[in-house]
Amino acid sequence: MQIARNAVVRIDYTLTDDQSTVIDSSDGGEPLAYLHGAGNIISGLESALEGRKAGDKLNVRVSPAEGYGERNDALVAQVPRERFDTEETIEVGQQFHTMDEEGGVQVVTVTAVDAQQVTIDGNHPLAGVELNFAVTIVEVRAATAEELEHGHVHGAGGHEH
Ligand code: ZN
Repeated sequence: MQIARNAVVRIDYTLTDDQSTVIDSSDGGEPLAYLHGAGNIISGLESALEGRKAGDKLNVRVSPAEGYGERNDALVAQVPRERFDTEETIEVGQQFHTMDEEGGVQVVTVTAVDAQQVTIDGNHPLAGVELNFAVTIVEVRAATAEELEHGHVHGAGGHEH
């Protein structure tokens, strides 16, 4: 079957940036499983897979706008060191979950730290990055009623619950 809305799709993929650095890959692990049309994966990749079928191999280039967004300097903030638990070691590269203004979960990354200030960056680590996916479609099947209700795939490569 072809990939269309409400199909369960399993893909092998390797993601590289424009310097050919591998950012992420399913190589050596389970293929990634996602529910097509549910926003489980970035929109640029999802739309490129539309209409494809198992066995297809394709290279997809995804711009930041259809990937993890452009970098937004307004998401960089300085927080007084005392706002953090003093027992806790704060290091560059650490990530925290915070609440954004709409009550959603936002992941922030520590980009600088000194005795007074911690600089946090709410941009996705891949914001502003051109993404190059090499994809092999492993399987395409219809979603179950339960998967549609949950909005994600169950079983291999998906949610285990
Ligand atoms: Zn579920």
